[in-house]
Amino acid sequence: MYTKGFVTGDDVVQFEALCTAIASGMNNFIVKLSSSVMSKGERVDNLIFRGQSLLADGENRITVGVISEPDRRTRTVQEYVGVDEAKLDLATGIYNKKTVTDMITDDINKTAVSDRNRQMFLMILDIDNFKSVNDSYGHYFGDEVIKAFADSLKLSVGGRGIVGRIGGDEFIVLIKDVTVEELRIMLKAMRKGLKVSLAQKQPEYMFSTSIGIAQFGKDGSDFETLFKIADAALYIAKEKGKDRYIIYDYNKHGDILTDMKHDIAFGSGFMKPMAKYELATNIVMKVSLGKMTVKEVLSELTDKLNIHGISIFCGNDMECIYSTGHYKNNVIEAAYVNDDKFLNHFDEYGVNIVNNIASLTIEFPEVFRKLRDNNICSLLQMKADGADGKEYMVEFDIFGINRRKWSDTDVIMLRMVVLGVVNAVSGQLTD
Ligand code: GH3
Ligand code: MG
Repeated sequence: MYTKGFVTGDDVVQFEALCTAIASGMNNFIVKLSSSVMSKGERVDNLIFRGQSLLADGENRITVGVISEPDRRTRTVQEYVGVDEAKLDLATGIYNKKTVTDMITDDINKTAVSDRNRQMFLMILDIDNFKSVNDSYGHYFGDEVIKAFADSLKLSVGGRGIVGRIGGDEFIVLIKDVTVEELRIMLKAMRKGLKVSLAQKQPEYMFSTSIGIAQFGKDGSDFETLFKIADAALYIAKEKGKDRYIIYDYNKHGDILTDMKHDIAFGSGFMKPMAKYELATNIVMKVSLGKMTVKEVLSELTDKLNIHGISIFCGNDMECIYSTGHYKNNVIEAAYVNDDKFLNHFDEYGVNIVNNIASLTIEFPEVFRKLRDNNICSLLQMKADGADGKEYMVEFDIFGINRRKWSDTDVIMLRMVVLGVVNAVSGQLTD
């Protein structure tokens, strides 16, 4: 930052404060900093860095947070968090995920009834190595690339189809009444045009994109099937070295849907650590921007991580303020955790791991009974101080007899989420 001149003058002090916050594993930091890092030196922006930095082990930290620009707030929220309220994606002016998905589904369903032989393709397009575009040329150039791509897609497709943005650098197109040959020509022209126009702005940058394509009728006649096939074809395009399109062909690619299903069935039991951290990051970002409610966070966690019940407690008597999951009895309070003897079981980060509640029988027979009566067999409790000065505890429960061994990854990612949620609930970070 210094050597490249992205921070200068008085802002160096602020920048050091940010570095200290990250290095010290600070639960919550908010640092205002004027810097040109987002445009790699082209213009200075007023930025706010908000986040949390956790000690993952003795040496490494995991830091999650949001860089926001108060001066361009709507754009930032819309773009990075993908708010679906409006029909259009503000950054590009094309349809957003929800709208385009609804429109394409509708169109496909109608066509399936009225004209099953219509030539129609569903394409998913993903910009190649986009992360390194941001890293090399700055986020603002990254944004320009996305905008140029959206414009060019809209222009190429014209009145022949529907174009929308379904992710950061991911787009979807339903195109009608074109032959495979016409489609090839169109894609070739578009990709070449973008390479040329973007190279005028950044001579070293070579735009490229990978595209997966499914054909209506031949590959399926409902949105879900076509989407899965196009997505699998996109995956193949990336695997083969990117910068290409793959039109799905059974003879060449085999039964990719069945192959993918195996992956999904196989993968669902355990999310990979990186995926868990990404999930946590996403949740913390959304909840701290007020784009996700606590209820939604809890149901996302129960869905994705196979956690059966989650409860949030607050105050000296640890009264239950939120609860989700099919508990046998209503969860009312957990005052016992504030008992000195029980408190000893929490570690220095406020975490208490109980893989099997049977371990509580001798020392805490009443707690054991209470949990067992509610069908809980494993749990994870995490304490955090609220911005309102109250103490909070979030408890993750597993029901039945299938005890759970909480992994280090579970503990770290859930602690990230807990800090984010407690901040939201207790009223911080909602300026
Ligand atoms: P791949 O070739 O495999 O697609 O690699 P990739 O680097 O493009 O990776 P991926 O598609 O997974 O990541 C997309 C990245 O795009 C993640 C995020 O940093 C960035 N991004 C997402 N939305 C925006 C945006 O609105 N503006 C900018 N500048 N960057 C974005
Ligand atoms: Mg990409």
